[in-house]
Amino acid sequence: MSRVLVTGAAGFIGSHLVDRLLAEGRDVVGVDAFTGYYSRRTKERNLEDARGNERFRLVEGDLLDLDLDALVDGVGCVAHLAGEPGVRRSWGPNFPRYVARNVLTTERLLEAAGRAGGTRFVYASSSSVYGSDPGRPVGEDHPRAPASPYALSKLAAEELVGLYRRERGVPGTVLRYFTVYGPRQRPEMALSRFLFSALRGRPVDVFGDGGQQRDMTYVSDAVEATVAALGAPPGVYNVGGGNRATVRDMIEAVRRATGMDLEVRYGPEAQGDVRSTWADSSRAEETLGYRPNVGLEEGVAAQARWAARALVAAPA
Ligand code: NAD
Repeated sequence: MSRVLVTGAAGFIGSHLVDRLLAEGRDVVGVDAFTGYYSRRTKERNLEDARGNERFRLVEGDLLDLDLDALVDGVGCVAHLAGEPGVRRSWGPNFPRYVARNVLTTERLLEAAGRAGGTRFVYASSSSVYGSDPGRPVGEDHPRAPASPYALSKLAAEELVGLYRRERGVPGTVLRYFTVYGPRQRPEMALSRFLFSALRGRPVDVFGDGGQQRDMTYVSDAVEATVAALGAPPGVYNVGGGNRATVRDMIEAVRRATGMDLEVRYGPEAQGDVRSTWADSSRAEETLGYRPNVGLEEGVAAQARWAARALVAAPA
């Protein structure tokens, strides 16, 4: 089995992917720059299990500076999960960082994959490229209508994957993840904020009226789709969890999972936050054998257990 290069290996989804590949006996090279989007301490904890595995090697560095030919050399597949996430922060002065970390990193990696020849490439894109859904599930051919600079940068990176597939023969796949949650979820994401606030007995601020709806994907389901894509023909796939929940539903699920009350303060809407996301994942089901199998109640409970342990390990 060929070695896999996972970029963003210390991040939320990347670290789960690393653990999953190691569990399968694969050799994994992880790359991460430990960017300041959230704390290094949190990212180091994400890698605790992987660091003890002799099949894992971590290269700490920025994809914008590293010698990527050396990194891609001898690797059968690249899972490119590194990036600057977050819709709300992507406006104005932060935009150059989104271009650098989402678009330029992808171009540099595709160049290296093209030179290496035959390296499979899987890109972690986002449901945000669609904008808000039209009240029904969206398939991959639904028009793209980014509502934030973040979404635009993800779409630009997707286009690069398509360009290098057509013009340079790089077998590239695009996965459009829909709101991924579970243990290690990024601290600024809604469910993470709700859980940590509930466990600390603090109030939480909600953007808008809480009626925003998300197709929620448990992290192990997103990871299974990614592993399947590493061994499948190139394509573009939605990866949704099949659990649609409003922000208010998430808050209720957090109350049930923690047994704690949560004081909620509703505020103005965040610019770029879409009203609703809804995936038609049938293409991934048919081609990748993708079957999301963790429901919202079970998934939130697992994330709540993890959050409680994380608070004990590093009290605020
Ligand atoms: P994350 O922030 O936890 O992980 C990203 C990692 O990439 C971080 O550890 C960061 O240090 C690293 N990184 C960023 N720029 C880098 C660079 N130039 N060089 C090396 N490392 C760099 O984010 P996540 O939630 O795990 O998301 C992973 C990917 O999936 C991202 O590309 C994101 O856009 C995409 N995505 C995530 C979600 C979600 O719900 N979490 C949904 C859709 C798409």
